[in-house]
Amino acid sequence: MSSERLRLFVAADPPPDLLEALDESIAPLRSRPELASARWTVPANQHVTLKFLGWVEAGTVEPIVNSLATVASSHEPATITLTGLGAFPSERRARVLWAGLEDPAGLLAALASDLDASLGSLGFEPETRAFTPHLTLARFRPPAPVAGVPSEVPGVAEPSFEVDRLHLYRSHLHPKGARYEILRSLELTGSGR
Ligand code: ATP
Ligand code: MG
Repeated sequence: MSSERLRLFVAADPPPDLLEALDESIAPLRSRPELASARWTVPANQHVTLKFLGWVEAGTVEPIVNSLATVASSHEPATITLTGLGAFPSERRARVLWAGLEDPAGLLAALASDLDASLGSLGFEPETRAFTPHLTLARFRPPAPVAGVPSEVPGVAEPSFEVDRLHLYRSHLHPKGARYEILRSLELTGSGR
């Protein structure tokens, strides 16, 4: 048996076109002095994290995929819309600057909750923080105040998209930033409700 360990998380992806449009719309923020210490994420690395798993033994991937398949089959696709900017944990001391997502059907929250429960039975720690669906735009280390940053995302022509699958991602950490690789994709079929 291999004892390889993989760093994993589960996410949904907006379409690349939307991420490129968002990237262009926030370009003016990059020159704001209060965001000088930001480490910006590239569109290819942006996703909606639904469940973070962390380091996992390679042999655990298969039961994880089985859990994801069960969760995915119990939900139907839904429309998600980009909203405004926000910060974690607060605008006064931001670690993360994000773009928020409106989820009228509650799909993302339901997926996050079901994944938490389903993967909890495989021994993964349940999430204690409230779920806020978001795209991470920038990180700050140390935390920085971002209170002066406008909260609107200006001018994304097509801010809505369909979430119809979830992905099991592997994170490759590098000194210059992480690279994310899709290991498996599971369609939201609604067939297992
Ligand atoms: P780095 O840690 O080098 O900044 P990263 O955070 O992008 O890189 P990971 O730490 O592997 O890479 O995280 C993968 C994804 O999971 C990212 O979207 C990250 O924001 C999210 N994430 C990381 N840790 C947690 C956590 N404890 N809870 C929820 N989401 C997390
Ligand atoms: Mg991290």
